[in-house]
Amino acid sequence: MKILVTGGAGYIGGAFVRAALAAGHEPVVLDNLSTGHEDAVPTGVELVRADLRERAVLDPLLARCGAVVHFAALSIVPDSIADPVTYYRENLGGFLVLLDGVREHGPARLVFSSSAAVYGDGGGRPFREEDPTRPVNPYGGTKLAMEQTLAHVAPALGLRAFSLRYFNAAGALPDHGERHDPETHLVPLALEAALGRRTLTLFGEDYDTPDGTCIRDYVHVADLAEAHLAALAALERGEGGVLNLGTGRGHSVREVLAAVERVTGRSLPVARGPRREGDPARLVAAVDRAEAVLGWRAARPDLDAIVASAWEWARRLHGG
Ligand code: UDP
Repeated sequence: MKILVTGGAGYIGGAFVRAALAAGHEPVVLDNLSTGHEDAVPTGVELVRADLRERAVLDPLLARCGAVVHFAALSIVPDSIADPVTYYRENLGGFLVLLDGVREHGPARLVFSSSAAVYGDGGGRPFREEDPTRPVNPYGGTKLAMEQTLAHVAPALGLRAFSLRYFNAAGALPDHGERHDPETHLVPLALEAALGRRTLTLFGEDYDTPDGTCIRDYVHVADLAEAHLAALAALERGEGGVLNLGTGRGHSVREVLAAVERVTGRSLPVARGPRREGDPARLVAAVDRAEAVLGWRAARPDLDAIVASAWEWARRLHGG
């Protein structure tokens, strides 16, 4: 199937493009390269370098694809706190333009990249899809607004759709990994610290968690990519809705730093800092719905293996 992949030059989008190719699909990437990289798109894959709000570009692409997978978005929590208007304009505004195009040209299948950030601060247990959504930062707010928009729009347009709530994407493929500028995510920053390129600042040790640091559910980007293929197949069976994508296991920041030290064999320069605004204490996925609906579960849940794959990529990226 020909699949329009918005944001396909980014970290998770690029991983999906590779999985789609391997599964015999024909991905077409639409990316404005504001945060993506041209060379993240595999050779032979069509890359249309444009903003998805350019309807003259978007509409013909929609008309020739059988599905849309919509990754394109701004995704950095601290940036969203500094500039929420830009985040709502780019994320929700861009999505509305995409849905307008879908209304006129189809296709009738859409997979949307949502986020665990829609949940906000919960209790001590994994989040289930039906739990209340109370995002504690504007980034999560944009994703929730997009989910709600899709929930209203899809039935009206006869659109089959999934909102996939990613927990913390991590890890790398041999030829594709995380490359943000500036980087804000824990695993690549810790690996840069292991390479001696920076000191890692630990944001808060006074959370209500066993070791006082935040707990996240780190899921391998290759597993996320495969979940999207399963979602496209499920849409064909008439399925749709909201699904968590995680491993179901939580790791604290300290546990991640320990894993980085084990994998790299290097000790990390770590500074202790205050809490980072907008960080919930604990985000862990309940994974049974994704398993029931998609027949998918993370095949690479081991934290050390996730970190090891990211370490290979970091050395390739930075040398060392
Ligand atoms: N974190 C940290 N130092 C950093 C970057 C992140 O202590 O330099 C913590 C952050 O506070 C959060 C966790 O690592 O508790 C994961 O943050 P990240 O930015 O990777 O992902 P997020 O959960 O914000 O999407």
